[in-house]
Amino acid sequence: MAKSDKADELVFLPLGGSNEIGMNFNLYGFGPAHDRRWIVVDLGVTFGDQTTPGVEIILPDPEFIEEYADRVLGIVLTHAHEDHIGAVAWLWPRLKAPLYATPFTAFLLREKLREADLLDEVTIHEVPLGGTIELGPFSLELITLTHSIPEPNGLAIRTPLGTVLHTGDWKIDPDPLLGGVTDEGAIRRLGDAGVLAMVCDSTNVFVDGHAGSEAEVRATLIPLIAGLKGGVAVACFASNVARMDSIARAAVAAGRRVCLVGRSMIRMAAAARSVGLMEDLPPFIPDNEAKDFPPDKILYLCTGSQGEPRAALARIADGTHPFVKLGAGDHCIFSSRIIPGNEIPIRNLQNKLADRGVRLVTERDHPGIHVSGHPCRDELAEMYRWARPQISVPTHGERRHLLEHAAFARDLQVPQQVTPRNGDMVRLAPGRAEIVDEVPAGRLYVDAGVVTPENGDALKERRHAAYNGMIAVSVALDGRGRIVSGPQVRALGLPTHEDDPLEDVLDELAEEAEQALSKLKGDAREFDAEIETAISRAIRRASQRIWGRRPVVETTVLRL
Ligand SMILES: [Zn+2]
Ligand SMILES: [Zn+2]
Repeated sequence: MAKSDKADELVFLPLGGSNEIGMNFNLYGFGPAHDRRWIVVDLGVTFGDQTTPGVEIILPDPEFIEEYADRVLGIVLTHAHEDHIGAVAWLWPRLKAPLYATPFTAFLLREKLREADLLDEVTIHEVPLGGTIELGPFSLELITLTHSIPEPNGLAIRTPLGTVLHTGDWKIDPDPLLGGVTDEGAIRRLGDAGVLAMVCDSTNVFVDGHAGSEAEVRATLIPLIAGLKGGVAVACFASNVARMDSIARAAVAAGRRVCLVGRSMIRMAAAARSVGLMEDLPPFIPDNEAKDFPPDKILYLCTGSQGEPRAALARIADGTHPFVKLGAGDHCIFSSRIIPGNEIPIRNLQNKLADRGVRLVTERDHPGIHVSGHPCRDELAEMYRWARPQISVPTHGERRHLLEHAAFARDLQVPQQVTPRNGDMVRLAPGRAEIVDEVPAGRLYVDAGVVTPENGDALKERRHAAYNGMIAVSVALDGRGRIVSGPQVRALGLPTHEDDPLEDVLDELAEEAEQALSKLKGDAREFDAEIETAISRAIRRASQRIWGRRPVVETTVLRL
């Protein structure tokens, strides 16, 4: 073994969150290449879209680190957003390391693990805000930041080869309403002592100025809600407890009680109360009791601002919610932004509400009813001034965000910038920071509750059938391969022309199947698989001629 292979190294390895937003899954490794100790920072999910029909949740593939699971010292969760903790219950059984989180995050983790029947197996270490975690060569200090959820933590990760500031998600909110302000002093002290690298949020790198404060949103919402007559619904992210608190206080000021509509609203309110937040507000009204209140005495706080089809607001818009109805003269406020990719479902949702006569209030026509939880350029510059890292490692963004962030750091005189893709292992020390290895960093799909590979057959077939339709052929043969009945052909999802009715097309296909069978000689007719392949191939060829498409073809041979 070469001498350098025995030297200690500090490496950073993003396995999710560094090509796209979501699915944060970061590894830090310390030790010689052949014997590293690892810590995991965050284990999040992202969500499926039109290109992944039937797949709601997408996980990072832990294949690489699974092999070294016995060297993973701990999994540290920075905050409770789904893109940071959503994969814990799915992937913990493959890593089996202890979890570390602050109380609010730990409450939600326990809920997830209980649902997955894992609560008894997993150790969750609850760490106080500003607390420390000792994990082998890694000595971690939690740094209180501000974001759009309670208890967002940055991590100062001290190692014998230097200190990394892993920011997690943050902004600089001078008045976050709940929780402390950004611990500028702690970050400056880190900077004074020397920060080797800063691994930092890139979400809003293209936005000038500041993200704005939750206090400004509250100041906008109070008069807005006070001025509305009739029914009022407000949609926001359930995890933004400060927002929930502001809306509830605006409701109180307008003489309205608050009804929480949607499971995650209720779960988040419980998590908030578990850490002493929102305790002085009047109790929330359960949705099945909302009808006891006149429309101008209640406010519905709803999930579903992103157009999620099963969320509360979608059901209200469809008129299928069992307890909550909105109609002419009522208002719906979207105290949220459009997450890229959700434009179409949100537009559909808003059109349905508008069709019912509901007046919409969105960020576009009423600025100030939402602020982002991520740092804009002035805030990024401020953070770089406080921490003064030697190396900038942009994360939490698409490729264009990461590259812009690196250019921005260069302009701020940060000596080195590295922009790894998921799976790129960055050696932070010793020597110049560089990508030294590339490891597998795929994605897994949760399909009908089953964890499957990204390009699994089930989704491929489903997508193929969705675009091209499907044809089923069945034929009954005797032991020597002579037709007893059929072939029978059925088509699903394929159009037929007026002049060429479906029965005729199906007859034509049956004819093709029969010919394919007749071409098989002797032995071949004894093997069902060979017959099925031959018939399917003939049907696909014929479909190409008829429709210009290659549908999914399923042939079944029955022996009588
Ligand atoms: Zn995030
Ligand atoms: Zn977040």
